[in-house]
Amino acid sequence: MPTPRILPSIDQLRQRPGICALEAEYGPSAVLSALRAVAGTLRQELAGPAPPVEDRQQAALAIEQRAARQLEQAFAPSLVPVINATGVIVHTNLGRAPLAPAAARRVADMAAGYTNLEYDLTEGQRGSRSVHAEQLLAQVTGAPASAVVNNNAAAVLLTLAALASGREAIVSRGELVEIGGGFRIPDVMRQSGADVREVGTTNKTRTADYAAAISDRTAVILRVHPSNFRIEGFTERPALDELVALGRRFEIPVVEDLGSGNLLMPPEEAGIGEPLVAASVAAGVSICCFSGDKLLGGPQAGIIVGDQDLVSRIRRHPLMRALRVDKMTYAALEATLLEYARGRAKTTIPVARMLHTTAEAIGRRARALVDGLAGHPLFESDVVVGVSTVGGGGAPGSAIATRLARLTPTDRSASGLESRLRRLRTPVIARIEDNRVLLDLRTVLPEQDEQLIESLRTLA
Ligand SMILES: *Cc1c(COP(=O)(O)O)cnc(C)c1O
Repeated sequence: MPTPRILPSIDQLRQRPGICALEAEYGPSAVLSALRAVAGTLRQELAGPAPPVEDRQQAALAIEQRAARQLEQAFAPSLVPVINATGVIVHTNLGRAPLAPAAARRVADMAAGYTNLEYDLTEGQRGSRSVHAEQLLAQVTGAPASAVVNNNAAAVLLTLAALASGREAIVSRGELVEIGGGFRIPDVMRQSGADVREVGTTNKTRTADYAAAISDRTAVILRVHPSNFRIEGFTERPALDELVALGRRFEIPVVEDLGSGNLLMPPEEAGIGEPLVAASVAAGVSICCFSGDKLLGGPQAGIIVGDQDLVSRIRRHPLMRALRVDKMTYAALEATLLEYARGRAKTTIPVARMLHTTAEAIGRRARALVDGLAGHPLFESDVVVGVSTVGGGGAPGSAIATRLARLTPTDRSASGLESRLRRLRTPVIARIEDNRVLLDLRTVLPEQDEQLIESLRTLA
């Protein structure tokens, strides 16, 4: 196809200040590819029935504008911040726990430079990365030794691989659960190389069932906290003390997958229902595994705490090399644990603070939001009562009283409004109920309230 005479050459285009600016921002090679692609499309359009431009000047401008759009899209990061207005505190799809400001600062401090990640500054030689969080974990859980891996699924896999591969792990049929995201306890157990020795029934398992299954092939007794479901009615599960006593009698370690990593609240408080890590350690559980980014409120991580000897075996297992975490995770975890050690986690760790904020305090913020949106062309808004949830596979039915800003669309459907919120520059993720959009400020960081009002105002 001959080049239409009005199409400028690439060299001519590169003389334009606008294209120079694009080259400065995106680099000459990406700009060149974009110019070629956009000019190619324009060439076809010029040969068609409705040419979009009439002279060389217009053609150059069109190419510049189209290339700018194309480059902007191509260079936009895929991972972006969002405002969580769902009221689900540990929202797995939204990246679970927002870090405490102190933890975020610590990550930034460590990220761009070298660190003593695996270097012993006293001895001037190679050290172990596991030392970094160990002292703080001992302080907040009471367990002498620890290891940190990529997530809790990895923690359970590694623990079983190190302690029970080729032997048996006894587990109750009532705890062979699926946590979500395809994490099924029986599958993970098999992947570890352990033989799954199921005992009891779905609803009732007694200490005697575990005792009857113990043989010289038994390596561990596994206890799993059934995070996201509850069996009600005719049920039985041994007390942790009984299981620990049984393990001691036969010298078999009890391994507990706690799921959430509650370091702070008695389980009955605020309807959380998540066991305290320190309580399991104190009860004599040999190894506890839990997530860093659920109730603990830190970075994605799987934390293994327990007996020195067993943790040493876990650390020496070859899988440890594949599942270990980087300096950023240690930085965030240490800074998060420090807030617990200082006794101020309830106010400084976002997850903990969100859990403890009263419905009245949320209501005042919701009222300010609604007042700031008065007269909006797209919706009417008011404040109503509702519930927030913990989320993150935790605590079924955990409902925390809250106040919601309720947006009632005047001419659009709630799903239309909800999707426009999602497409804001900083996307706002909301719930829909009864053809209304509900915003729960419990999970919105207070410093984002103003930004939320501003960006809702820009919708028109
Ligand atoms: C969430 C959970 C896991 C998985 O933890 P991740 O950190 O998401 O890998 C494992 N076990 C239990 C009981 C859980 O609740």
